[in-house]
Amino acid sequence: MKVKSINIPIYDFSLILVEIENKDDADAVEKQLSRVKVPKDEIESVKDYISKESKNGGNTYRNFDLKKILVMLYPCESDRKRRNVINHEKRHVVDRIMQWASIDDIEAAFYRDWETDRKSTRLNSSHLKLSRMPSSA
Ligand SMILES: [Zn+2]
Repeated sequence: MKVKSINIPIYDFSLILVEIENKDDADAVEKQLSRVKVPKDEIESVKDYISKESKNGGNTYRNFDLKKILVMLYPCESDRKRRNVINHEKRHVVDRIMQWASIDDIEAAFYRDWETDRKSTRLNSSHLKLSRMPSSA
């Protein structure tokens, strides 16, 4: 199992990326899910899923109090499926941070990101700089 921790400077969130390799990872996953305080019965069903060596999926959990988001990736049969899963979970991460920041209109949030990206290309400024900008919400 691979575990990667990433800090998201904007909003002070931390992201834990857990990559399942095979069914032997089921026990180690329990520890990671407990860190985000995922309910016990949910952890059990995830462990079941891993034990059955299910493929081509992912899960995203969040704990707003702890400001933690955990993304779990199961093994994928192809690179294409892996990309689809990652993109799907990526969207959950954005949705959840926006939800935390009380930006309920996800579509508007994406539009705002697109505007920011366009400006940054035109002005040739870095994304890092933009991510430190305080939110107007
Ligand atoms: Zn989903």
